[in-house]
Amino acid sequence: MRMAADTIFGKIVAGEIPVEKLAETERVIAFPDIAPQAPVHILVIPKTTEYADVTELAAGDPGLLAEMVEVAKRLADEHADGDYRLIFNNGANAGQTVFHVHAHVLAGGLTEGSL
Ligand code: 5GP
Repeated sequence: MRMAADTIFGKIVAGEIPVEKLAETERVIAFPDIAPQAPVHILVIPKTTEYADVTELAAGDPGLLAEMVEVAKRLADEHADGDYRLIFNNGANAGQTVFHVHAHVLAGGLTEGSL
């Protein structure tokens, strides 16, 4: 299995790169995306470096994936009106640049009808 240990998010989990933690559970942390694409743009990541993308996570630990969605909803409630778009880029050709699974939580002022 590919490991995600050497990514920038692994360093964030290890505390080597400081971030503003917007949510934290035993297994998940959330922090603002450095290059926001929406009024609210938060990344939710598992602390484990075991899963490079959402396909691996869903197969390996669906409960952890569900916990990420739960945290995403809580963030959308806290930072917007509770509605949110959840994006997992899966693979380089789909725009994934960091191979430590992460959910993009977009909320607030999303364009109607767009993907
Ligand atoms: P991907 O393209 O892999 O789906 O998403 C990676 C995201 O991580 C991008 O939206 C990018 O802006 C964000 N990002 C990359 N490096 C950092 C960083 O050091 N800190 C934070 N907060 N976000 C980052």
